[in-house]
Amino acid sequence: MSSTSPIVVVLDQEIVAAAHAAGENAWWLYCTEVLDHLRLPYTVIGPEEAAGRLATGDVVAVYPHEGRLVTSAGETAFDPGIWQRIVEIQQGVPVEKDGTPAPDGSSPVDDGLLKCDDGITLSYVTDRAVPPGEATVEGEFPHVYPPEAAPPMFHQAMADRLRLDFLALVFDAAAGVNLVLPWLHYWPAGVPAVAHMSHDSDGNVSEQAASGLDVFDQAGVKVTWCHCFPGGYTPEIVAEIAARGHEQALHYNAMGDADIASWGWPQLRAQYAWAQALTGRDGIVSNKNHYTRWEGWDEFFLWCERIGIQIDQSRGPSKQGNVGFPFGSCHLWFPIAGAAELNRRIDVLELPLHTQDLAWASHISIRDVILDEVLALHGVAHFLFHSAHLHTKPDVAEACRQVAAEARRRGMPWWTSEQLNSWERGRRGVQLAVSSADGELRVEITAEQAVKGAGVLLAVPGLAENAAFVVVSGAARASVVTRHGRLLLELAADLPAGTSSFTVRPTG
Ligand SMILES: [Zn+2]
Repeated sequence: MSSTSPIVVVLDQEIVAAAHAAGENAWWLYCTEVLDHLRLPYTVIGPEEAAGRLATGDVVAVYPHEGRLVTSAGETAFDPGIWQRIVEIQQGVPVEKDGTPAPDGSSPVDDGLLKCDDGITLSYVTDRAVPPGEATVEGEFPHVYPPEAAPPMFHQAMADRLRLDFLALVFDAAAGVNLVLPWLHYWPAGVPAVAHMSHDSDGNVSEQAASGLDVFDQAGVKVTWCHCFPGGYTPEIVAEIAARGHEQALHYNAMGDADIASWGWPQLRAQYAWAQALTGRDGIVSNKNHYTRWEGWDEFFLWCERIGIQIDQSRGPSKQGNVGFPFGSCHLWFPIAGAAELNRRIDVLELPLHTQDLAWASHISIRDVILDEVLALHGVAHFLFHSAHLHTKPDVAEACRQVAAEARRRGMPWWTSEQLNSWERGRRGVQLAVSSADGELRVEITAEQAVKGAGVLLAVPGLAENAAFVVVSGAARASVVTRHGRLLLELAADLPAGTSSFTVRPTG
């Protein structure tokens, strides 16, 4: 099947090796992560083999280093700098000192504490906008809690949009040679986007946690509950968190306010063990760093990989003027390691964080900007709350209940990070292939593990909105849906582990 994949990624391994030998990043290797997230079928080949594949006429050849897309019908150029841009928006630049604050005073990241938003590469000047309907503050923005006004925010997921710009070229190129591209919807069939709520236990006051549990019940949301070293709640509260269906997770503390609460691998390892002992849960899969602490570039992801944290949720804002999409994404993505590790994929998913406590840490007007952008890009919206605020501030509790309802109103269900991690890793084990003959489309799917309610999407050239299909073989429902502004044929099906196949035919 792989020998006939409709996409080939053409990599000259000598150029990759030369970059790594010089200690430089081969950013273009990230092309495969962009394709992998959609489960687009591709193979990596060398330049010599590419000519042979192109001669067969049924392939889109991607040259990520050169910025070229080639088919038998012609060639399309794109900016080869796109890969570095995507990675640096998502992963930032190495955090070694305080970042440069926004000129309007809305993001005072120069606070003497190293954290994710010190490494932001998006521009405070050109990449932000004031939420619709909010007045622009003249002069210095007053960064007070709760915010008196709405500052400009990172209103667009710029890295996701860059990915989509590239993918649009791939889909157009395939359509140009009448090639059907299959991909796998990010979420279960019919679900346009999802939402995630996390909770940080800063201070570990059990009375506050009890209030938080009540508010989350009222909101109807199961949260990812991140436990902050040192101390911990009473055993009764810890048990109640699990009993009410919330996920037990770690809130790694490197703020220097307690013994071993500092930045380092031994400290993370010790705090992970502490959280296991506190919760009684061996297999903690998720973490968020207290105060969104960060140092260096890839070190923290490598530590997570080493200890078994499968999904990190640290990369988000700590200031009012860099909420929204400061790292350009609302999708689950795998980071790459630096040149020293040959830019390999690090086996830790990143779940981007979009804001801390609405109506306290951020202005309430950002809520719908986040939800609407995530819905438009079929991503996951992440809202963090602290029970320290839910307990004492009725406005924050109300904002929590309201955002829960607003996401649901948009058709976005609330998932814990553990659910997100399992789903994404499950769908990453799916391989798709499609062939067409006699007017029928035959789809062959191999899944490493079962995926319930999958949405297999087929980019069929010339597909009409009112087209109707019948599933000739295999248990699936066929319908025409719109994703990323394109009409696609969706097959909704439960995928068992192993290989399954479906045949569909247009009716009429
Ligand atoms: Zn915290």
